[in-house]
Amino acid sequence: MPEQVIKYRGRLAPSPTGLLHVGHARTFWIAAQRASEHRGTLILRNEDLDPQRCRRELVDAMYEDLRWLSIQWSEGPDCGGPYAPYSQSERREFYVDAWRTLRDTGAIYPCTCSRKDVAQAAAAANNDVDDEPLYPGTCRQRTDASNFSTPEGVNWRFRIPDGQEIAFDDEHLGPQRYIAGQDFGDFLIWRRDDVPAYQLAVVVDDAAMRVTEVVRGADLLKSTARQLLIYRALGLQTPQHYHCDLVRDESGVRLAKRHDALSIRHLRESGWIPEQVLKAAGLEY
Ligand code: GLU
Repeated sequence: MPEQVIKYRGRLAPSPTGLLHVGHARTFWIAAQRASEHRGTLILRNEDLDPQRCRRELVDAMYEDLRWLSIQWSEGPDCGGPYAPYSQSERREFYVDAWRTLRDTGAIYPCTCSRKDVAQAAAAANNDVDDEPLYPGTCRQRTDASNFSTPEGVNWRFRIPDGQEIAFDDEHLGPQRYIAGQDFGDFLIWRRDDVPAYQLAVVVDDAAMRVTEVVRGADLLKSTARQLLIYRALGLQTPQHYHCDLVRDESGVRLAKRHDALSIRHLRESGWIPEQVLKAAGLEY
């Protein structure tokens, strides 16, 4: 029997929380290029989970800006596909199912600490301010997870294997290694305001949509280590990872961190052509 060849499936996963900028152009262009080099399928997933931060008009702007850059996808909210729906706001049942599995296996626990409690403890421990603060473990010993039939009302955290090394080979950046409990702590899976956390939603969707390679910015490297733990806990097959270099300005500041981050929309309105945007993103057209 010939070995079954698994067809490349990649994805673009923008969040409609702001206009796409030059850094997104870089990541999405590379994602599209890798899918095309592998003669694979490219999916567009609208990561509109957080009702407080996402705006409907930005969803249309996202599609338009991507098309203007000649980035094409063949599955997505606008064109459908075998793993629809492709907008996270319509996929709650998938996340609830995963939450239930994690609850039943003791992988997660309910947490009633406020954001302020966690931030204060993390500040005292001098944590990386760019990242989710290291959780001090206050609610870790709770054993009442099975009293909850739905995730609502409290935060839910993943109980990480303290001290364990989480390693993976990045397709672009090579071997990566993180230590659970040092580089990151018990992280959020579900928020008290009843929004599934990014870490859970992205794993559930990448697995359900049969994504074989995740292409995204290097700012998410540490999140990949967290997500590998979720894949393991849910018994799901892990995709490959390709983390793109971040675009920085002349003084080395990450574009996404600048308030005036160059949006593709504004550049286009001021007369730029796609080639110029891609050049500013450090790419050859
Ligand atoms: N929606 C996420 C973002 O815009 C994408 C994360 C990912 O690609 O995993 O940052």
